[in-house]
Amino acid sequence: MRSYTELSRIVGAEHVLEAPPPGSLYNSDASRRRELAGHADAVVLPGSAEQVAEVVRWCYAHDTPIVPRGGGTGLTGGAVPTEGGVVCSLERLRGVRELAPELWRMHPEAGVTTRHVQRLARENGLMFAPDPGAAEQSQIGGNVATNAGGPHALKYGVTGAWVTGLEAVLAPGELVRIGGWARKDVAGYDLKSLLVGSEGTLGVITAVRLRLVPAPEARAPHVVFLRTPAAGCQAMLDILAAGIQPSALEFVDGPMLEIVAGGYPGRVPADATFALLVEVDGTRSEIGAQRRVLLEVMGGVAVAIHEPADVAALWRWREGFNPAATAVRGGKVSEDVAFPVERLAEGLERFAEIAARHSLRACAWGHGGEGNVHATVLVDPTSARELSAARAIGEELFALVGSLGGSIAAEHGVGWLKRGRLRLQWDERTVELHDQIKRAFDPKGLLNPGKKLARLPTPDS
Ligand SMILES: Cc1cc2nc3c(=O)[nH]c(=O)nc-3n(C[C@H](O)[C@H](O)[C@H](O)COP(=O)(O)OP(=O)(O)OC[C@H]3O[C@@H](n4cnc5c(N)ncnc54)[C@H](O)[C@@H]3O)c2cc1C
Repeated sequence: MRSYTELSRIVGAEHVLEAPPPGSLYNSDASRRRELAGHADAVVLPGSAEQVAEVVRWCYAHDTPIVPRGGGTGLTGGAVPTEGGVVCSLERLRGVRELAPELWRMHPEAGVTTRHVQRLARENGLMFAPDPGAAEQSQIGGNVATNAGGPHALKYGVTGAWVTGLEAVLAPGELVRIGGWARKDVAGYDLKSLLVGSEGTLGVITAVRLRLVPAPEARAPHVVFLRTPAAGCQAMLDILAAGIQPSALEFVDGPMLEIVAGGYPGRVPADATFALLVEVDGTRSEIGAQRRVLLEVMGGVAVAIHEPADVAALWRWREGFNPAATAVRGGKVSEDVAFPVERLAEGLERFAEIAARHSLRACAWGHGGEGNVHATVLVDPTSARELSAARAIGEELFALVGSLGGSIAAEHGVGWLKRGRLRLQWDERTVELHDQIKRAFDPKGLLNPGKKLARLPTPDS
């Protein structure tokens, strides 16, 4: 086995971990799928962007794969070292280089947690709106690398919409700055946006320039219960068509509503088989105006409309959906996809049919205003038959999404689990360009190899 002594020289011996055991922290992420096995040869924890550059330089010179790692909360195996090599964890890059509330901006290093970025903004009267669900653990570098979303992306955009500039290490080990504080910049091709969402396959992000906005004065969530999924999906279209701009428009289908009803801070009406969480924000008068329209539009169709006073309790309930679904049978396989919002009803119905055909219990929830569905089947994780059925359901779902003009990867990335399926939604020529971009950034194919592949490798490639 290769010696990693030189990496110790770069980052200090105490920041190098050789051959971590299979299944341990740095060999896994939050996807926890059986078919995913990481086997890092070494893990390095650089303490500065310059050290990251030296590590990448060493790996590139020694033909060693480099797997950037943030908080390890990814759900598609992106940070799992499936091809061995060196895991480069950004967790020690925790500085905030600049925080300028009067200029609405912040410059955190990649390893700062999402929650810390949100908190610093809030403490200064500002808001960093992206709110992916594992904020205590995920890092801003990981959020940028996956272009993470969350409930409030509907009004405020996904993480990339908040990035004005990046610092990154590109192959073969060069520290570069792309973009800056200018909020308008069309001087070159949009390389910043290429790195956003590149999942560690084009470079290692070491710091991020973020724009912030003044925090809204207040927010007011409403829970709208509906009798049928069709009525629920139509209600979302009606809300948007009425000109309301919800800060969040989440949906929960009937089977999922049954699972989480017990934890709901209120009482779920017996005849509801679909629910929406509609939050509006702004000044008190803006909220009042939006609320009036919402109640008018939903008044005739809703089974009930609740206006919970405890906003935090409601969102805690929403954040508990993942573990609640897992707890039903000990395991779940959840695919994060997006349908065009006007095809959501059809997408949900056909997903339920696919799962029923494979004899698995299905449920769905997600960011409905964006057609973003966490399409889930509940499984016994020890049953090979059920896991294989779940995989088959996933494949049929991806084909369905492609045929309806949606996306196989809405916000959780492609990573390892969803690789090779871009042709379902892109033209051949554009898939070819995707491959060429990878080669231009990473001619040796060492940056997070095997991830975010547009197509699967053939035996002779
Ligand atoms: C309970 C739960 C809820 C979630 N909810 C949401 C949600 O609402 N919305 C959403 O979008 N996601 C959600 N996620 C998924 C996950 O939190 C996001 O994908 C997050 O952005 C990953 O960040 P991370 O720091 O944990 O990255 P990791 O998991 O460590 O890595 C993810 C990918 O990014 C790459 N990467 C990480 N850091 C860097 C870097 N500095 N430079 C280059 N590449 C890097 C890795 O190589 C990998 O490919 C959820 C996950 C969990 C467990």
